[in-house]
Amino acid sequence: MGTVTISDVRKSYGGLEVLHGIDVAIADGEFVVLVGPSGCGKSTLLRMIAGLEEITSGEIGINGRVVNDLRPKERDIAMVFQSYALYPHMTVAQNMGFSLKLARADKAERARRVAEAARILDLEPLLDRKPAQLSGGQRQRVAMGRSIVRDPAVFLFDEPLSNLDAKLRVAMRSEIKALHQRLGTTTVYVTHDQIEAMTMADRIVVMHDGIVEQVGTPLELYDTPANTFVAEFIGSPA
Ligand code: ADP
Ligand code: MG
Repeated sequence: MGTVTISDVRKSYGGLEVLHGIDVAIADGEFVVLVGPSGCGKSTLLRMIAGLEEITSGEIGINGRVVNDLRPKERDIAMVFQSYALYPHMTVAQNMGFSLKLARADKAERARRVAEAARILDLEPLLDRKPAQLSGGQRQRVAMGRSIVRDPAVFLFDEPLSNLDAKLRVAMRSEIKALHQRLGTTTVYVTHDQIEAMTMADRIVVMHDGIVEQVGTPLELYDTPANTFVAEFIGSPA
């Protein structure tokens, strides 16, 4: 179970407001993509959901509980970082088990969860390798594995594919979607790439200069864009 409720959320840095009252309600199991041009506030919003950034005003709820004052590890979320955030000196298995170790899971439980994630992500033959001995796609799967082992209510992705080449990026989109279909975990996915948004999302949140321009399914945004910004950004003919 994983719902996310964002209610009139604002963010200021040094007196300058960069998010101007964001309202979005995400249902359990949804794959929601936050999309918009660079600098529009996507990462800031995602980091506030994660608890990595303080909320200036408004409320964020996860599973009906206001999380404004909770630390990241108390929020039942997992952030998926880009693959270069792997620990280079640790094996694949150690990378995936590390957050469980921090959470004081015992050794048998860690091994069980790492084995399960490795099976889901097709990493079983690679568990003893170091990140340097993996391809880009394998590394990104390990980065996802680090989140899956914790079985969170919500996955948060911030442009996880932006440092992969074009071909791998397309392949990884399918892998992430397949993973979502398999686990059904509520996902909030940030990208500046409208094609990525259109192909991956159940619903898209189009952001621009710190506001939400429109929320809708890919088809709704394409067929009935709320304004010319959305039409031009999505590339619909309106
Ligand atoms: P996006 O992820 O959509 O590219 P960000 O959320 O990173 O956008 O940034 C939104 C706005 O907030 C930008 O104008 C950015 O310069 C500003 N910003 C982000 N982080 C900080 C920070 N730590 N201090 C000051 N301004 C910031
Ligand atoms: Mg960003």
